[in-house]
Amino acid sequence: MGQRIHFVVDPQGWCCMGLIIFVWLYNTIFIPKVILFPHYEEGNISVVAVLCYYFCSLFCIASLFRASVADPGKLPENPKIPITELEHWELCNKCNMMRPKRSHHCSRCGHCVRRMDHHCPWINNCVGEDNHWLFLQLCFYTQILSSYTLILDFCHYYYFLPLKKENWDVFVFRHELALLRISAFMGLIILGGISRLFYTQLVGIFTDTTSIEKMSNCCEDISRPRKPWQQTFSEVFGTHWKILWFIPFRQRQPLRVPYHFANHV
Ligand SMILES: [Zn+2]
Ligand SMILES: [Zn+2]
Repeated sequence: MGQRIHFVVDPQGWCCMGLIIFVWLYNTIFIPKVILFPHYEEGNISVVAVLCYYFCSLFCIASLFRASVADPGKLPENPKIPITELEHWELCNKCNMMRPKRSHHCSRCGHCVRRMDHHCPWINNCVGEDNHWLFLQLCFYTQILSSYTLILDFCHYYYFLPLKKENWDVFVFRHELALLRISAFMGLIILGGISRLFYTQLVGIFTDTTSIEKMSNCCEDISRPRKPWQQTFSEVFGTHWKILWFIPFRQRQPLRVPYHFANHV
């Protein structure tokens, strides 16, 4: 399968994603400038703390961009359906195309997506079979980065020794308190929202149910054998290697060749 860039034309989605990138840029620029570098120079923190912050920040933006431009599982124009698999397919009454069961038609994107979970305006893309793993990584690293930022904001005021402030940028020197308050405010909002979302996502994977299936209460109709959690997570991430579940810099290969893609993988 070629790795094409998938780009959804939706101004509302661009605004939501722009807001997320703004928050990320704000923290990645100001937290090192106001807290990490000055405290490192004065010996209050080690270089490991600085590097860890940048690693979290890098993993966060990498999973955001990859989740946003990855094909979530759009169906090919004329899928070749093996006769033996026909019972697993159904007709979409919106785009008039055959699709595997558990697919859903996204009205924002205008096409069907395999095992669609939901359409997320914050990544301006659908979350489906092929990019669900990146969306989970995004939630995970966003929680780590916002928690780390909140801890640094807190320590800067209540725990670390006061800075001498000799070599400080004039802008940072004048607006230190405002910069930290904005960072803490954004961190709390994002951490609260993402933690709740991440929890529902994990429950969904444990029970092998998508958000759409949960909302439409159709899971009772789908007679699926209950799988162990390692299996459902491995299918989402495309590997049994748990360490790889945390790495956004790789290509995901479906664990089992899915019947609906068997002709072009
Ligand atoms: Zn459709
Ligand atoms: Zn969509």
